Amino acid sequence: MVENKKIIIAIDGFSSCGKSTMAKELAKRLGYIYVDSGAMYRAITLYCLEHGLITGEVVDQVALEKALPTISITFKLNRNGLPETYLDGKNVEREIRTMAVSDKVSQVSAIPFVRKALVSLQQALGKEKGIVMDGRDIGTTVFPDAELKIFVTASPEVRALRRCEELAAKGAEVSFQTVLENVKKRDYIDQHREESPLVMAKDAVLLDNSTLSIEQQNEWLYNKYREVVSK
Ligand code: C5P
Repeated sequence: MVENKKIIIAIDGFSSCGKSTMAKELAKRLGYIYVDSGAMYRAITLYCLEHGLITGEVVDQVALEKALPTISITFKLNRNGLPETYLDGKNVEREIRTMAVSDKVSQVSAIPFVRKALVSLQQALGKEKGIVMDGRDIGTTVFPDAELKIFVTASPEVRALRRCEELAAKGAEVSFQTVLENVKKRDYIDQHREESPLVMAKDAVLLDNSTLSIEQQNEWLYNKYREVVSK
């Protein structure tokens, strides 16, 4: 039975291109663990904001490095079976998705000691395989031996529109222009940072989902999984 062969599935790509939607759906279908690595970087960023460790664009790295070993980031399943992020025992799933966090997360995630700590945590979560993880460096740095690697992209305008709709559904009305600028800024920082920048792994499969429906991309991903496990 191909379904018995547990693998690691790495889904990387630009911000707001629907990685987590497809990753969650595939994990549910396969009975795999789903990990949103971006939520971890967002949780650290929220910690920094709540503790006054960010002034303008500058992060107080000395204070953050000292605090990092004491910060706990965990996931718990909600009533619908979806993982929610906890920071030091408190559910922060809503707070980490705000524009205030989105605006600073790429600066925090560019810090090498932050990446080192979170990559170790992510690798520990994937030890038993049977995991779908999405992020920016999953196929290149976290799980370079992942059996299936996908790199997702879509135009910045399509991504900003999706993000606006997502924020509006949560009751946060943010202008399209503000979201578009944030998407472009994060793309730039994520691609140009020194430590594990956002690049497509050589052995990843590219998916441009600009014109695909959610159902179409889910089916596309499931077929890629089937191809890998039936080899
Ligand atoms: O996936 P999401 O958009 O929530 O990620 C938020 C930010 O976290 C990204 O813009 C990026 O700066 C950072 N990130 C990262 N590496 C990952 C996942 C996210 O640097 N594996």
